[in-house]
Amino acid sequence: MHELGLTQEVIEIACRKCEGARVRRVVLEVGLLTAVLPDAMLFCFDLCAEGTPLEGAKLDIRQVPGKARCRKCSKDLTLEQPFGNCPCGSLDLEWLSGQELRIVELEVV
Ligand SMILES: [Zn+2]
Repeated sequence: MHELGLTQEVIEIACRKCEGARVRRVVLEVGLLTAVLPDAMLFCFDLCAEGTPLEGAKLDIRQVPGKARCRKCSKDLTLEQPFGNCPCGSLDLEWLSGQELRIVELEVV
């Protein structure tokens, strides 16, 4: 389950950013191409946040679609899953975004 490692990373970053203050809410932007399952992540978050300034904090996950460009016809595509093909039939896509995992907001008490 790769959500566990990612969640631990998010918590570490959030802990560093909040400098010991208690965190009430974390808003996380997750690219759909990361294939992160929000439910699994929420579950891991509650577990991993225990004993940290993030204990009891609410995790808000915002999923954002990915963008890719076809290497064959240069068309830009929006992808909602970590695979896809261009309408021209090509599978040779260059992913431009959608693999990000970013803390966009950190609400401290
Ligand atoms: Zn194409």
